[in-house]
Amino acid sequence: MKTYIVGNWKLNFTVGESSIYLHKLLKSLPNYRDTEVVVAPSLIALQPLSLQIDRHKVKLAAQNGFYRDYGAFTGEVSFSQLRGLVDYAIIGHSERRYILREDDKMVAKKVAAAIRNKVTPILCIGETESERAFGETADVIRDQLIGGLSEVADDDLHKVIIAYEPVWAISSTKAAKIATPDEISEVVKMIRKVLGETYGEKPAENVPILFGGSVNASNAGAYLTVPGVNGLLIGGSSLILNEFTDIIETAKRVRA
Ligand code: PEP
Repeated sequence: MKTYIVGNWKLNFTVGESSIYLHKLLKSLPNYRDTEVVVAPSLIALQPLSLQIDRHKVKLAAQNGFYRDYGAFTGEVSFSQLRGLVDYAIIGHSERRYILREDDKMVAKKVAAAIRNKVTPILCIGETESERAFGETADVIRDQLIGGLSEVADDDLHKVIIAYEPVWAISSTKAAKIATPDEISEVVKMIRKVLGETYGEKPAENVPILFGGSVNASNAGAYLTVPGVNGLLIGGSSLILNEFTDIIETAKRVRA
């Protein structure tokens, strides 16, 4: 399985800054056959960046997309409009769940819309600090996973990527904590178990699972060697070009 290194730029960088970053990133990267490097810029930058990108080196992801393909939905952008511009889409990020009140039902419709439009969904799931403290992690993971995948046909499971992002470990969360490899390993096992029970063991094994939460160039190696982890979703550190390219180099080295 490939290793995925995905940079989530969130609401950062103008179109011009995004273009300069991408130019420098493309210049610094050789073709990585086994490492899929992906960046998720702001929606407004996707169109110009799609003309600039060399897809052999870097792919584009949307940070969101709407679940209907067209119609009276002021302000929304659909996956049918994103089709062809991006290869991936981050769906169900905790910032959208908790700040913009997206629930599992909406997340499920977005996952289905992405697949329908040939965009690979990166479905984000993860417990909050208090859910962990109350021993609810397994339930939250199960609910978000089964809920988020509820509109995915069994045959389409291989089109999905899961990102485990404990909300308490995301750098923008107040007093973010660093997740340990053991904590991540335990939840990755839960995710594979739920997928296995729902879709069968073999299909479950083939679903890439990424980890995200305060990943940087110093801890990326440790996270990438957690059994069952197939890549990283990186927020803050992906905004610093050297840090992001160091993480890509680390991925190449530790997973060679
Ligand atoms: C994220 O928001 O997806 C994320 C993982 O952020 P950070 O790396 O900044 O914790």
